[in-house]
Amino acid sequence: MTVRLTQRIVVVGGGVLGTMHAVMARRRGYEVVHLEREAEARGASVRNFGLVWVSGRKAGPELSLALRARELWEELAGQVPGLGFRADGSLTLAADDTELALLKEAAALPDADRRQFELLDPAGVRAVNPALRGELAGGLLCRADAIVEPRQVLPVLRAYLAATSEGATGYQWLPGREVVEIAPNAVRDHTGAWHQCDLIVLCTGAAFTGVVGRYASYLARDGVRRVRLQMMQTAPLAERLATAVADADTMRYYPAYDLPGRQLLPPQAAVAEHTRAQLLLVQRADGGLTIGDTHEYTEPFAFDVDEDAYDHLRARAEALLGAPVPRVQRRWAGVYSEVNSRVAPHALYHRSEVEPGVVLVTGPGGRGMTCSPAIAEETFR
Ligand SMILES: Cc1cc2nc3c(=O)[nH]c(=O)nc-3n(C[C@H](O)[C@H](O)[C@H](O)COP(=O)(O)OP(=O)(O)OC[C@H]3O[C@@H](n4cnc5c(N)ncnc54)[C@H](O)[C@@H]3O)c2cc1C
Repeated sequence: MTVRLTQRIVVVGGGVLGTMHAVMARRRGYEVVHLEREAEARGASVRNFGLVWVSGRKAGPELSLALRARELWEELAGQVPGLGFRADGSLTLAADDTELALLKEAAALPDADRRQFELLDPAGVRAVNPALRGELAGGLLCRADAIVEPRQVLPVLRAYLAATSEGATGYQWLPGREVVEIAPNAVRDHTGAWHQCDLIVLCTGAAFTGVVGRYASYLARDGVRRVRLQMMQTAPLAERLATAVADADTMRYYPAYDLPGRQLLPPQAAVAEHTRAQLLLVQRADGGLTIGDTHEYTEPFAFDVDEDAYDHLRARAEALLGAPVPRVQRRWAGVYSEVNSRVAPHALYHRSEVEPGVVLVTGPGGRGMTCSPAIAEETFR
């Protein structure tokens, strides 16, 4: 009897999930054909903070997945310096005693060591991150959090794949090719070209129509939905922000802070509540500050960006820095797909074999950049 082993994999989608699947497939010696409908990926993977975010993850499998991914990012960064990986950690900041009490509860979690948490008083916060000159009650340092450069990650990983693949067939990147048909052991792109393979991995992000439309019932199983976020980026800040920074509103959303003290937080500012805003602040390699975000869950999404949300986020950033932020140079919105925890409480992302030899992987939500290498590893395990 002849046993046919999987040799060639078609990955559809040039975002971080597709690219990490290409990396993990190459590690296992498979040939990879990688198709992307745009000339360069333009989805959530290039619009995010680049946070490899461990601190807010739910205890158990979600934290383990994030920690495994953090390990893989660091390992990859050893081979691909262009990822811009920095083990800078993060500070979640409290402005008053109620917020501080919740940080204290988080610092006392049984898995606080795995997150590398340390509760700091205002002087301790400034010793770690001297750029934070605003009024503070304290902060929670998470040394496990890290940063990568989202605008660089995809092209540098592809260059690494091309450089480490012997021969023309090891890794083929085919941008500007929208996959429009799936057949047993092959996909057809919009130019009419067929790409033969042994396995198809669909990493099509927040695209729920087109070729993925016929698999809607699989996505419905995990309540996979789309979420739209607003972001902005400033000109370079003259000094270095030694850590990523989060305000206390992040504790309203991240599951690690689902602790008794969360109920005692005062109501959010009206605009923050309306736009479901939380402040995350990350310094880019060039010194600019990426500032966000908001969360919109109801489609059709706005086609324009809301300045009230930006005013709020900028004011929060300036309150923590105790100084004006540099001029905003860029604004954008991004859409990710996420499994709905109310529908599928235990799902961290969606993976299903939608047809024999066709695997659909999507729905990691706000943890997608962080967890992508570990998700890809799990697909091939
Ligand atoms: C504003 C924002 C901030 C975020 N911040 C963070 C963060 O700091 N940390 C974190 O962990 N996560 C963060 N996330 C989440 C993270 O960015 C996403 O979960 C992740 O990027 C999803 O990756 P993806 O590859 O599945 O999707 P995408 O990046 O959207 O990629 C999917 C790709 O598939 C292509 N495609 C679709 N259909 C086809 C087809 N038929 N043929 C060919 N190509 C196709 C699309 O063109 C696209 O390029 C953030 C998301 C947003 C929007």
